[in-house]
Amino acid sequence: MEFNILTLCYLIGSVTFILGLKMLSHPATARKGNLIAAAGMTIAIFGTIFLYKDDAGNKLHNYGWIFGGIFLGGIVGALAAKKVKMTAMPEMVSMFNGMGGACAALISIVEFDHISKLFSGNATLYPPLSQLGPDTLPAIPTGHILIIILGLIIGSVSFAGSMIAWGKLNGKVKDFSFKGQHIFNIVLLLVILGLAAYLVGWKPAASPIIFYAIFALSLSYGVFFVFPIGGADMPVVISLLNSFTGVAAACGGFLYDNKVMMTGGILVGAAGTLLTMLMCKAMNRSLTNVLIGSFGGGAKAGPAGAKSQGAYKEISLSDTAVVMSYAHKVFIVPGYGLAVAQAQHACHELEKILESKGVEVKYAIHPVAGRMPGHMNVLLAEADVSYEKLQEMEQANEEFSSTDVVLVLGANDVVNPAAKTDPSSPIYGMPILDVELAKNVIVNKRSMKPGYAGIENNLFFQPKTSMLFGDAKKVLQDLIGEIKNL
Ligand code: NDP
Repeated sequence: MEFNILTLCYLIGSVTFILGLKMLSHPATARKGNLIAAAGMTIAIFGTIFLYKDDAGNKLHNYGWIFGGIFLGGIVGALAAKKVKMTAMPEMVSMFNGMGGACAALISIVEFDHISKLFSGNATLYPPLSQLGPDTLPAIPTGHILIIILGLIIGSVSFAGSMIAWGKLNGKVKDFSFKGQHIFNIVLLLVILGLAAYLVGWKPAASPIIFYAIFALSLSYGVFFVFPIGGADMPVVISLLNSFTGVAAACGGFLYDNKVMMTGGILVGAAGTLLTMLMCKAMNRSLTNVLIGSFGGGAKAGPAGAKSQGAYKEISLSDTAVVMSYAHKVFIVPGYGLAVAQAQHACHELEKILESKGVEVKYAIHPVAGRMPGHMNVLLAEADVSYEKLQEMEQANEEFSSTDVVLVLGANDVVNPAAKTDPSSPIYGMPILDVELAKNVIVNKRSMKPGYAGIENNLFFQPKTSMLFGDAKKVLQDLIGEIKNL
């Protein structure tokens, strides 16, 4: 009876994950989807704690440890999520993703220790090794050890890589690479796979040393794999690490034959893989390059990016108000600076006041604008901007030539023409928003400093472009005031 209730809990958990994921694909339903999936996860966790029984009919015990962990983790997670600033969300997502990878790796370590003890006769199930000849070694199922090692490798890479990504996103870790690093990464990966194959072939005497060597090397690989990646390529790596964590969790599900853990892991792995492919497409990179860490922004600025590109012109608030109010069509290009300034509500207000004057207003969303996939969509949805007004890159690029004014709000790399014109640029090849096709381009930022890729932007020096300096929120509020006074 209890088993059936547990199966039902797992079924509910799995269905809510799928439902939740589906609802996450639209801003209007995303919040509810998240809550539904979280409720399903709660049912699955408490079902496991109270109803699970092993083959011998033993229930879980150690309730003090279990609830102590849930309590502490729950408090830390809830406080972190409550306190986090919107701009620090990407770092937090990276950190939480890393924790998932670490859990999967820890499961592998615990399970390896468990079967090692069984194998060496420390438990009653198997006789001591000394009493057995080499031909009578007890058989550990190959699939079992394979899953343990896969979980260890993928979980460790995901943990170490996510920690470096976390440091890079909050600016504490700088890009780092050395000559021949690509070869080094490939060799490191091959050594890990070779040792794993050796261990799966089951060489008992050397096994713990090899197992922990694989663990240490996988952690190192995670570090070396993410360290050199900079420029505009981090989004691909972040979604890839996300999918790694999902696959590592699925390994845990296989190991314990736990259906809901498998479903959850596979869903995260599959969703992360799809997102990685979409990001690769958006960035015009191949996945092979990502896997061996052979791209990135080690060189922060190409020759054209490093030096100043001449004079730029500024525009006043009142002139901006006039140009925008008398336009037929305006595109707003939001970027990371909009999130920093928390200017999304002011932005929506500008949209409404322009529309009340008969101006058509749309938003052009670059797939890697901001610091996490979907960052701008989330930000604008928070301010109730209608989803229909958001145009994806390809669509927006087709419409720029019929646009009177493009207002670039705290975006930089995603509108940098060097991606098309300068082969030495670290963002060369990345598709960008072709804002220079519009009649006028107004760029709001606080200074002439570069964006995430660390390169200068030729767009700011073009005749069509005018700079409107200042914090995005303050500028937008003042601009709204000016438009109202017209
Ligand atoms: P960028 O980082 O290129 O540029 C942001 C600009 O915003 C800066 O130039 C900054 O200039 C300006 N800014 C900062 N604060 C303010 C403010 N308060 N008011 C007005 N402007 C401000 O952002 P983009 O969105 O154009 O590009 C995203 C970059 O981040 C890409 O390189 C992408 O690859 C990378 N990335 C994206 C991830 C993702 O998943 N989306 C993940 C990791 C990296 P100033 O200081 O002069 O104000």
